[in-house]
Amino acid sequence: MNHPHSIHPPGCGCEDCHRPGATVPIDLASEVDIARVLGGRTVNDSGRPLTVVTTTTVGTDGRVTGGADTVVVQCDGRSWSVGAYVLAATSFDPPF
Ligand SMILES: [Zn+2]
Repeated sequence: MNHPHSIHPPGCGCEDCHRPGATVPIDLASEVDIARVLGGRTVNDSGRPLTVVTTTTVGTDGRVTGGADTVVVQCDGRSWSVGAYVLAATSFDPPF
């Protein structure tokens, strides 16, 4: 399966955004597309910053019991839950 190499601005109607696997407007980006940005495999050319929110649990013994297993990326009021995809996007080369 082809994945976009670049994320474009919301509503982008350029030629590449009409071809599957080339680029995608950020408002149509999938969880996998966003995870690939975090993994350095897709470039964020949307002109918008991505906010990455992670949740870490610290147990009563002071130890971290849950690594950043919840990863949410936010941009322009949209959000993507990408925890599992980030692991996949950064662990294999090149499944995507
Ligand atoms: Zn475009």
